[in-house]
Amino acid sequence: TALVVAMDGPSGSGKSSASRGVARALGLRYLDTGAMYRAITWWMREHGVDTGDPAAVAARAADPVLQIGTDPAAPGITVDGVDVAAAIRTTEVTSAVSAVSAVPEVRARLVAEQRAVIGAGDIVVEGRDIGTVVAPEAPVKVYLTASPEARARRRSAELAGTTVEAQRAAMARRDALDSTRKADPLVMAADAVEVDTTEMTLDEVVAEVLRLVKE
Ligand code: C5P
Repeated sequence: TALVVAMDGPSGSGKSSASRGVARALGLRYLDTGAMYRAITWWMREHGVDTGDPAAVAARAADPVLQIGTDPAAPGITVDGVDVAAAIRTTEVTSAVSAVSAVPEVRARLVAEQRAVIGAGDIVVEGRDIGTVVAPEAPVKVYLTASPEARARRRSAELAGTTVEAQRAAMARRDALDSTRKADPLVMAADAVEVDTTEMTLDEVVAEVLRLVKE
């Protein structure tokens, strides 16, 4: 049976770096599902769709053509053939993505695409609902957490021109939206192993997940 490593948790928990590190160590493919929600959000903004209007987003949910790579060293992403790897990380996309990802039509579409990628073989998948919705049968489920301070510090170190305090506020807002939405709210799978990365280095987190995989 296929090895699926589900890596869920909020932003700033160290999910992306750890997921890529685990995939590289095991020679597995890697899927960043957050990048897919971001890419749809980028497309909606690009096409003048009001991302605060769920009906408008739902009406266009099927239109963007998404292609996502699964190489942990260079996971590219295009929408309608346009490379959006950098564009999906802007503050504008980040502040609109929770509203877009709360639209059931968007989730249904992306979950189906994610399952198709996962079905092709062994993989590390990072997101919010991998262990609960996308791949509930995954043999390894990890839920990464970190203190709000640590998460905000990591995020502001990645982004130029932002303060830790501004990041903390933006993350608290996104967490609240993600965990209270009606469609698949962000919750930890009952059978996931929680790893608090607050005091851990990236290497330590990767080693801990590798240990869980070998168990
Ligand atoms: O992980 P990342 O910060 O890139 O995710 C961006 C947003 O995409 C999250 O805040 C959440 O709204 C949405 N998302 C989701 N389900 C996933 C992955 C991301 O709803 N599996």
